[in-house]
Amino acid sequence: GHDKDNHKDKADRATNELVMDQRTRMILLKMISRGIVSEVHGAISTGKEANVYGAVMDPLDGSRPIQRAIKIYKTAILVFKDREKYVTGEHRFKRGANKKNNREMVKQWAEKEFRNLKRLHSAGIACPEPLELKSHVLVMEFLGDKRGYAYPRLRDATLPDEGTENPWRAPYIQLLGIMRCLFRVCNLVHADLSEYNILYNKSKLYIIDVSQSVEHEHPRALEFLRMDIKNVGDFFRRQGVDTLQDRAIYDFITAIEGPVEEPALSEAIEHLYETRPSIEDAATEEVNMEVFRNQFIPRTLDEVYDMERDAQMPFEQLVYNNMLADKVATKSEAEEGDSEDVSGDGAGGDDGDDGNSSEVD
Ligand code: ADP
Ligand code: MG
Repeated sequence: GHDKDNHKDKADRATNELVMDQRTRMILLKMISRGIVSEVHGAISTGKEANVYGAVMDPLDGSRPIQRAIKIYKTAILVFKDREKYVTGEHRFKRGANKKNNREMVKQWAEKEFRNLKRLHSAGIACPEPLELKSHVLVMEFLGDKRGYAYPRLRDATLPDEGTENPWRAPYIQLLGIMRCLFRVCNLVHADLSEYNILYNKSKLYIIDVSQSVEHEHPRALEFLRMDIKNVGDFFRRQGVDTLQDRAIYDFITAIEGPVEEPALSEAIEHLYETRPSIEDAATEEVNMEVFRNQFIPRTLDEVYDMERDAQMPFEQLVYNNMLADKVATKSEAEEGDSEDVSGDGAGGDDGDDGNSSEVD
C-alpha cells in the first residue's frame, strides 16, 4: 500500500543521487530497512580509496534524529595494491590479502578499520564509534555538530588564541599521549597519522582513518611509527610549537613502563621537556638523531636476521623489538640449532601472551 511505496520512495531517494554500484545500493537499502540509517546524504569526502557520506537515523520512538557517517570503500581500484605492505606479515591477516579478488581485499580493509576503531574506542581514545559493518560499508558515529557539519581536520582547524602560550601546544601534548596509548594499550601504530586524519573540536582531538593501522609487532610497525612521529612533529613545528626530539618521543611511546592514561601521560611529557638535553648537548643529540634516522629496521622476516651482516654492524644500529627478537631466536634455533639471545639485553622474553592473537570483539 501507500506505506510501502512511501518506504521504497524514501529508500530510493536515500541512495539515488549517489553514484553507487548495485551491491552497495543493496547493502544501504538493507541498512535502511533495518533502521540503522534512514537517509544517506551527500558525500562529506571523496577519496582515492573511500567516500564518506553523512547520514541520519530517525529513532522509532520519535526522539531527535541521530547523525551518522558512512564510509564506503571503493571496490574497483588498484591503489590497494600499494597498501599490501600494511597487510603482509600482520597477525590478523596471516594468509595475506587475496590478490585475485579485489572485492575481498576491500572488504578486509573495511573490516580492519572497523576492528581498529573498536580497539581505539574501548581504550577510550576519541574516535568515531564503529556501529555497523557490512562488506565494504562501514557505519560509524558522526563527528560533527548538530547541523550536520563535520568537525574540521586538524589541518583546517582554527584554535582559540588565549594569548599566553601557543594554542597548538596543548593539542600537541594531547596527541603524543594518544600515540602512546594507541601503541601500548591498543597495540597499534596508526601508520597514516597526520593533520589530515585527526579531527578537532573544542580542544579535543579525534583519531580517524585507521584501516591501514598495524599491530605493533608488524615487521614494519616501528618504521611506520617513526614516520607518524615525523609527520606530527613537522606539522606542529609549522604551527610554531617547541616540539620534542623524534627520538625522545619514540622512546616515550614505546616504553614498557610508564603511564597510559591522562593526566599522567601529559605530566610525563612535561617531564620530558624538563629533562631534555641542554643546548650544549644539542650537537651530540644531532649525532644521535642521525644514527636514529639511519638505523637499520628489519622489513621482512628474511631481513630480520643475517648473522654475518649483523656481526659487523654497530650494536646500536640493530633494532629488534621483543617480538622480532623472539622470531629471530626461533628462526636461528630452527636453522642452526643455536639459541643465542640476539636481543642482547635480555628484555626479549616478556612478550608472552599480550592479547594480540585473540580477537578484540
Ligand atoms: P580517507 O581514507 O579517504 O582519507 P578518512 O577516514 O580519512 O578517509 O575520511 C575522509 C574525511 O571524511 C575525513 O577527513 C573527515 O573530514 C571525514 N570523516 C571521516 N569520518 C568521519 C566521521 N566519523 N564523522 C565526520 N566526518 C568524518
Ligand atoms: Mg584520511
